[in-house]
Amino acid sequence: MGSASSYQAVQAVAPGQLELVRKPIRDPGPGEVRIRVEACGVCHSDAGTVEGTFEGTFPIDWPRVPGHEAVGRIDALGAHVQGWAIGQRVGIGFLGGSCGHCEYCRGGDLVNCRNQEFTGIHRDGGYAEMLIARASGLMSVPEDLSSANAAPLLCAGLTTFSALRNAPAKPGDLVAVLGIGGLGHLGVQYARHMGFEVAAIARGAEKAALAKKLGAHHYIDSAASNPAEALQGLGGAKVILFTASGGKMVAETFKGLRPGGVSVIVGASPDPIEVSSTDLIFGSRKLQGALTGDPATGDETLRFSALSGVSAMIETVPLEKAADAYAKMMAGKARFRIVLTMG
Ligand SMILES: [Zn+2]
Ligand SMILES: [Zn+2]
Repeated sequence: MGSASSYQAVQAVAPGQLELVRKPIRDPGPGEVRIRVEACGVCHSDAGTVEGTFEGTFPIDWPRVPGHEAVGRIDALGAHVQGWAIGQRVGIGFLGGSCGHCEYCRGGDLVNCRNQEFTGIHRDGGYAEMLIARASGLMSVPEDLSSANAAPLLCAGLTTFSALRNAPAKPGDLVAVLGIGGLGHLGVQYARHMGFEVAAIARGAEKAALAKKLGAHHYIDSAASNPAEALQGLGGAKVILFTASGGKMVAETFKGLRPGGVSVIVGASPDPIEVSSTDLIFGSRKLQGALTGDPATGDETLRFSALSGVSAMIETVPLEKAADAYAKMMAGKARFRIVLTMG
């Protein structure tokens, strides 16, 4: 079988097409580590790799292994890697590691590094038994989180945690989370544990019980009421976190912000957001995006999750079934995060 010199991986070979293959094991280059992957979450952004939906912005060079919520143990260190050890359990998210020398890195903004590679886009990701990652992108996984539980926190968790942590809300402020899916079900939990008054917004009365269970103080059914009016009825939101965002929904819900409030978009969608200038000007409201977070915030995401008991609701699937798992996620049937497990 040649199992000592090769590893199993699932790679995208053409739009919508995933195949199980064996790939040769290679040594990590300078500044890189090799990780023996134990778990990898299936994220909606994997469509960027599998369907080429980031084409134009980030063209994919198929074949490419998707997956940017990978957890495993370091099994080889490249040259010049410091601060990480063989056997250590680590994670790698969407941001594949900053360069350390560009203008943004030098200014401390690692997320916007000019030479950042995206895991699963520019290099192979975690739908595999092994992956090579830049050490500068690694996150440290605490002992009290299992690999399967930690995996979704590296993208869905980090994205919502970082957005809320960097938003201007203080304990007691009203924070709304729109969407209760892969990102939103974590966002509601983080918002609650950070001490905010939490309003969850989703479609349908049947999500109310889940929203309360996740920690929401209020549930707003966007099919039965106008979310902006409902938020204004609660005093107006200081922050609205949009985890699922058709442009229309964002534009309408945006009006639920109190003066000085901020809407943070973390769920990517191609349709435009049409907000009037008066809605921005009167009340000095902001509309902004947030891209996951830096590795130190990733460490904090994992630690905070372990300390507070925030966890993703997951379903585990063996790596060999990655294509089925991906299809289920794309069909919107994951409740709420599928995690691939290896060996
Ligand atoms: Zn993701
Ligand atoms: Zn850089």
